[in-house]
This record gives sequence, structure tokens and C-alpha cells, in this order.
Amino acid sequence: MNNNNRKKDALQYHAMGRPGKIAVVPTKPHSSQRDLSLAYSPGVAEPCLAIAENSEDAYKYTAKGNLVAVISNGTAVLGLGDIGAQAGKPVMEGKGLLFKIFADIDVFDIELDTKNVDEFVNIVKALEPTFGGINLEDIKAPECFEIERRLKAEMNIPVMHDDQHGTAIISGAALINACELQGKNISEVKIVVNGAGAAAISCTAMYVAVGARKENIVMLDSKGVIRADREGLDTTKAEWATNRDIHSLEEAVKDSDVFIGLSKADVLTPEMLKSMALKPIVLAMANPNPEIAYELAVETRDDLIMGTGRSDFPNQVNNVLGFPYIFRGALDVRATAINEAMKIAAVKAIAELAKQPVPEEVNIAYNANNIRFGADYVIPKPTDPRLITEVSIAVAKAAIESGVARKVIEDWDAYREELHK
Ligand code: NAP
Ligand code: MG
Repeated sequence: MNNNNRKKDALQYHAMGRPGKIAVVPTKPHSSQRDLSLAYSPGVAEPCLAIAENSEDAYKYTAKGNLVAVISNGTAVLGLGDIGAQAGKPVMEGKGLLFKIFADIDVFDIELDTKNVDEFVNIVKALEPTFGGINLEDIKAPECFEIERRLKAEMNIPVMHDDQHGTAIISGAALINACELQGKNISEVKIVVNGAGAAAISCTAMYVAVGARKENIVMLDSKGVIRADREGLDTTKAEWATNRDIHSLEEAVKDSDVFIGLSKADVLTPEMLKSMALKPIVLAMANPNPEIAYELAVETRDDLIMGTGRSDFPNQVNNVLGFPYIFRGALDVRATAINEAMKIAAVKAIAELAKQPVPEEVNIAYNANNIRFGADYVIPKPTDPRLITEVSIAVAKAAIESGVARKVIEDWDAYREELHK
């Protein structure tokens, strides 16, 4: 599709019928006078009183338990930058659509016209009565770190900034499987992380959580290698500073096993790729164009495992593999948080699923006949119908085991059945 056609199609898609992509649908009968007297005054006073007495009853009598807020201030929308809260609304509605179709979670998208961290935090905190969970979205670094940290500390429902952790979870699964396929031990691989923003910082922490060693990692930002002797580093970047005496991406990637790109297009040259160790792994995730073009990379090295953020090439690191099911699992046990144990459980479930034989419907959806675990398939496809069971169950179990669940699931087979529906 050329750009003009895409523009026309996309605008028409959003404008056709009722503008936008989501609507509110009643879930109770509402045709008779009796129904209405129960749905609203006077009947509605009864659940109000029940909740006033026992706040957990909100999960019994309101939509709270299946309702997630997708909240943004529009400061880092897709790759478009700070386009403002209202201009980001199509993305947030789109996220609502994905939550609904993949995990049957209802979403209110909320666009906040503020760049002030205190104001943002105070507003979101005050929304706790309405929602079962908070998905922060497209908020720029470094503010996103403080906003998420404070909201997690101050709220009793799960809060996750998906641009940070969704990417970390999916690329973490890709990294684990790519290491296995390349015969590398994750605790030994030398990793170069190009980029030090919202996604890169969280991804790097996840790689360490699943076995990579901090001393094997070099991180770069727009100014070059983040070295311990560099002046003016903020605390988030300083945590990843290297003591090695290297000064450029070129020096950093030489003999490295893994290149993680969360920066911008075309910064990894074929020469740099050639200088990497045998059987390298490249996850070049800058959107819409990766740090090295897919075709160029696979032409340059035939021993490479390559992933990007794009749907038109193999190994798409796509957050949709994670967030619907992470929230599904968290909501179903009324978790008070999405903690590290839950995120790591999601990483492992996604990685493990890629090793299982692929259902026929996935082959059909991708016009393929033999998708299987290997260099061109290190993580599951977004349409895989097993994601909802495998990831949600893993996350729910981890929530229970790590002590943040307020509801325990006893019958896991019944839960699996329910997720299947
Ligand atoms: P961000 O917070 O704005 O961070 C961008 C980072 O890239 C900053 O640290 C910036 O350095 C650094 N950078 C810019 N030019 C660079 C260069 N030439 N060399 C090295 N580093 C450079 O953005 P983000 O949310 O982390 O996203 C980063 C990229 O990853 C975007 O392209 C985004 O679309 C992509 N992404 C993809 C996925 C996915 O595929 N699933 C998910 C998330 C993000 P400074 O700190 O010095 O400004
Ligand atoms: Mg986003």
C-alpha cells in the first residue's frame, strides 16, 4: 500500500459510521420499566450501599473488575513525538479495541492535557474507584519513570506503562529463544543496547532479570556510549553506565552477540553487523524503520537471528502479545499490582509457547504451512489463540504466588475453559 492510499484508507476507516473505534454497550436488560428501576433509581441505591459498606463489592456490582484505563498525555505518541493529548486519542482508542478483541477487557481511554508530573499523578490516582487497572501509554521519558513509580506505590490496582514493560516482556521472550537457537547462554552474551529511553531502560532491566549479566551490557544514547565517566548522566542512565573505555557504537558492537535497537532508523551499518560475533542476534525495534533494514541485515549475515517491530517481517516484537493477557490475568485474581514476578511469568509463557507446534489457524492466517520454532519464528504470532490461556494463566498464578492476588483461583481447568470462550 502506498502512503497516499494508506492515508486515505486510515482516515476513512476512522470516520466511517460512528466516528472513532469504540463505544459503550449496556450489559443488563433495559427494556422494561422494572429493568430501568433496577438499573437506575431507585434500585441502584442497593449496590451503592453495599459498596459503601464493603469496597470489594465494587467488583461484584460494577464494571470495575473488567475495566482498564488507557491513559496518555500525548507526549510520546507512536514514533510521532509530542503531538498532544487529543491527537493521541486514536492510538488510545486503538489500544482499547485491542484489549477488547484479544482479552475481552473493556477500556475507557483517557487523554490528559498536562505535562506536569504531579498533576498527572494526582488525576490518575483519583481515578482508582473507576478502574480495575491502569495502562499508561505514550508518555515521554524521563517523566514516564517517575509517573509509573509513584502510581505503583500509591495505587492498589495494577499500573503498567506498556511502552516500557510490554516491550521488555516481548523482546525478553524473543531474546531467550534467540539465545537458545543460536546456542548461546544468556548469562554470557555481550549485549549492546542502542537507545536509553523508556523502552530501552525497561528492556535492559528485564534482560538482567531473566539472566543477562549487567557487566556484559553496553548502552548508548543519542550522545554515544553511556560511560561511567560521562558527565551529566541522569540516574536512570547512570545505572547502566559501563566502565569500558569505548566511545562509539562501532566499538561497542564489535564481537558482541546481541544488538538491541530502541533508538532510530538506520544507525547499525552492515560493517558493524559484520563485526559482531558468530551467530548474532539483532532486535532492531525502532518504528517504523528499524536500526538496520531487515533485508539488508539478512543479506549481510546468514547466521543472524533478526527481529523488528514490523508486521511485514518475521519475528515482530509486538506488544499485543503481552498487554491484553497480562491485564487479563491480573484482573482475574484482582491483583493489587503487576509486579516483576508476573512480568517474568509472562516472558516465560510467551517464550515457551513459541516452541510448541503451531495450530493450523495460525498457519492459515499467515498464508504459511509450516510455521515452527526457528530463526524466523522466535516468538508467537499475534493471532495465536493460545496466548490468552498460556499468558493469562501464567500471570494469574505468579500474582497468587507472589502474594498480590486478592482473589484465588482454585479450579485452573475451569479458568482455562472460561478464557477459551
Ligand atoms: P524514547 O524514550 O524517546 O527513547 C529514545 C532513545 O533513543 C533515547 O534514549 C535517545 O537518546 C536514543 N537515541 C536517539 N538517537 C539515537 C542514536 N542515533 N543512537 C543511540 N541512541 C539514540 O523512545 P522509546 O519509547 O524508548 O522508543 C524508542 C524506539 O523504539 C522508537 O523508535 C519506538 O518506536 C521503538 N519501540 C518499539 C517497540 C516495539 O517494536 N515493540 C516498542 C517500544 C519502542 P537520548 O536519551 O540522548 O535522547
Ligand atoms: Mg505505545
